[in-house]
Amino acid sequence: MTPRVQLPQASPSLRIARYRAAIDARIAAVLSSQSYILGPEVEQFETAFASYIGAQHCVGVATGTDALALALRALGIGRGDEVVTVSLTAAATASAIAQCGAEPRFIDVDPHTRCMDVNRLSAAITPRTAAIMPVHLHGHPVDMTAVMEIADRHALAVVEDCAQAHGAQHNGHRVGSFGTLAAFSFYPTKNLGCIGDGGAVVTSDAALATRLRALRAYGWQTAERISTEPGWNSRLDELQAGILNVLLPELDSYTSERRAIARTIHQGLSTSPAGDDIELATLDPGSVHHQFAIAVPNRDLIRQHLGKVEGIGTAIHYCPALHQQPAYAACATDELANTELLAARMISLPIQPEVVGDRGSQLIEAVARVVRACNPS
Ligand SMILES: *Cc1c(COP(=O)(O)O)cnc(C)c1O
Repeated sequence: MTPRVQLPQASPSLRIARYRAAIDARIAAVLSSQSYILGPEVEQFETAFASYIGAQHCVGVATGTDALALALRALGIGRGDEVVTVSLTAAATASAIAQCGAEPRFIDVDPHTRCMDVNRLSAAITPRTAAIMPVHLHGHPVDMTAVMEIADRHALAVVEDCAQAHGAQHNGHRVGSFGTLAAFSFYPTKNLGCIGDGGAVVTSDAALATRLRALRAYGWQTAERISTEPGWNSRLDELQAGILNVLLPELDSYTSERRAIARTIHQGLSTSPAGDDIELATLDPGSVHHQFAIAVPNRDLIRQHLGKVEGIGTAIHYCPALHQQPAYAACATDELANTELLAARMISLPIQPEVVGDRGSQLIEAVARVVRACNPS
């Protein structure tokens, strides 16, 4: 039987194809240039991206994980320190903390936003807490007003994990402009993605930006290349930065397309006959909808039918939750009931504009049909 709809969960190559001519020209220019690492493309991107986010400085690095870890290192966070974050996130969030020698401390998420439940934040702060790391999961902006108020009250640094939230807004300001520092990833499937690994740290603190520039290149602080501390090697290359320079000016219109698709799916599913069996996240106008995840009972059966019968690709992000994995089994501060329920129930549907296109209503009908069939009541 041929599946009814043919939609992959995501397709970075369709996005590249859309901007292919401009990308080809940029790659050709880099190939003929004198510089392949930390050159003019990187500088142009750093300036443009800092300004886009609404911060003073941007430092390009090799990956989003490095961006998180180097942000913590720039703050001097390490052994003996705790960083409060969530367990419902990519492994990278916690591995960046652990890589610095610090300990992730997980609090539960709000079932409606699927992000850090800010009401649980104060209770998780101990004398060892050094920073808070909110994750704008699926592109949904965390309530940064509440996070910054608590951080200020306890004199804590905030490192925003913006790997899924390029351009997302809270109270009219872009995420990444609230925290002491913020980390971005440009992994190919992210809303702003290159064709390899890439990342950046954004901050408005000049001293932290200077230290980050040293940390990403062997600790060199001066033009004479003198290492004042051991540092690292974590650099953004010219090819990736060139592609990001092509895609950054397209990001806002790209986000508008994602928002329109997310609104259609949200409305369609909540009013469908399967609406009672599907839990949706709050539709926040500031979200950039990196993923569109539904939470359903009977998830595995539903995924199987969506794939085999309807031809709809789905993904599971993130199950088991991090505190349910051996590396982070000791990191939960409390019972993480909402996290565990969502980890067991969420399915990420296709949301990428080049994939869904004008087939939103087909997607909605197929999902509603399968959820009804798998949960007869
Ligand atoms: C992708 C991602 C990262 C890590 O980015 P990489 O570039 O893959 O290292 C960190 N945090 C979250 C929430 C992510 O989704």
